[in-house]
Amino acid sequence: MSPITHFLIGWTVANTALSLTKRERATITWASVVPDLDGLGIIAEKLTQNSARPLTWWSDYHHVLGHNLGFALLVTALAAIFAKHKATTTILVCVSFHLHLLGDLIGARGPDGDQWPIPYLLPFSNLPQLTWSGQWALNAWPNIVITATLIGTALLLAYRRGFSPLELFSAKADAIFVQALRSRFPARSLT
Ligand SMILES: [Zn+2]
Repeated sequence: MSPITHFLIGWTVANTALSLTKRERATITWASVVPDLDGLGIIAEKLTQNSARPLTWWSDYHHVLGHNLGFALLVTALAAIFAKHKATTTILVCVSFHLHLLGDLIGARGPDGDQWPIPYLLPFSNLPQLTWSGQWALNAWPNIVITATLIGTALLLAYRRGFSPLELFSAKADAIFVQALRSRFPARSLT
């Protein structure tokens, strides 16, 4: 799935608990995006593709380095150390991370038909390489429907709870956005 879809899934997971701090919501949300850091090798790969010794970091490491149990444990442990609401944050970070893997498993087939098998048990074992035969393409309609539903959910949550995913970037932008949303749809019209 695309980084935006992963981000919105993480945000929705972060909002399943009411008591969390803004930083904990951010941690849970980013846990759903962070596996794709292993895709940053695309920069080195693109830059060196015409050189004498091209680097193949994207082809070699995307969906490998960050998409596994070892990295999940690392991210979850870091979240556990720094969170105030430890149990809730730790569980939701773990769920958020794994929903990324699930999302890739069911809907991330590349344009060339590549399934990007997920070596889930790394670094403990190179097997199994998880794939699902029903996997749909990255730009297929289910991903569009899922993303649209998540955007709707985020808007509804922002309206009801008074904060949106924008709080991860700017408290001011978030406040302006929520205020605009609430004044555009006064409470009366929703009941
Ligand atoms: Zn991914």
